[in-house]
Amino acid sequence: MRIDFLTIFPNMFDAFLAEGVIARGVKQGLLDIRVWDLRDFTTDRHRSTDDEAYGGGPGMVMLAEPVLRCVDAIAGPDTRPHIVMTSPQGRRFDQRIASELSAEEHVVFLCGRYEGLDHRVHEALQPDEISIGDFVVSGGELPAMLMADALGRLIPGVVGNTGSVEEDSFFNGLLDYPHYTRPEELRGMRVPDILLSGHHEKIRKWRKEQALRATLEKRPDLLESAELDEEAREILGRIGKF
Ligand code: SAH
Repeated sequence: MRIDFLTIFPNMFDAFLAEGVIARGVKQGLLDIRVWDLRDFTTDRHRSTDDEAYGGGPGMVMLAEPVLRCVDAIAGPDTRPHIVMTSPQGRRFDQRIASELSAEEHVVFLCGRYEGLDHRVHEALQPDEISIGDFVVSGGELPAMLMADALGRLIPGVVGNTGSVEEDSFFNGLLDYPHYTRPEELRGMRVPDILLSGHHEKIRKWRKEQALRATLEKRPDLLESAELDEEAREILGRIGKF
């Protein structure tokens, strides 16, 4: 899968691309990630990427032309990338959107700064506008990296153990079960006996119950739309739902 970022702060992506799961995906050739500096697509001597707003008011607006020129450079005749505009006004990002984007061959993230991009970028590109939540951050770089991380780890092979992605929160509509590692006893707190029992079937069932309990306690709204099998319904019946 290919992912491109358009930004005026390309250095912000260095750490993201150097370490962790996404870096491994790049090394393995599963992810092809490119960061484009919008200043390379400016037309004036000062390499400007923003200007004052028509109509006045505080804050600068990012110029449309460098963004459109950069998209032209990326999208050749045979590549039609899915263009994402990071924006607090977009549809709210979640695991479902992550998996939808991970099915694309090529996703381009537009990272705004200041007041955002000249609105004609919307007209010209009709991007998929996506928000990471009902709050405003100062640039699209962190939202874009956050989304790329969530969708990149869904590409088969990027996370070494596919099972671990499938058991994460939200993958099956539920929250994850609790995890423990060494030591067996820590400051008087013991690892639940069942996890030390070696009894795989009992452990599987215990984890399923814990996932259902966590969801019921912390995010009961998720249970409305989660696909629950018979075993899950039976567990919920026992722990106080249905
Ligand atoms: N004036 C704009 C906000 C601009 S913030 C408005 O109120 O709609 C500057 C940039 O940060 C945006 O262009 C966008 O790229 C990014 N950004 C800010 N908050 C975001 C959010 N919640 N989700 C995704 N991107 C966001």
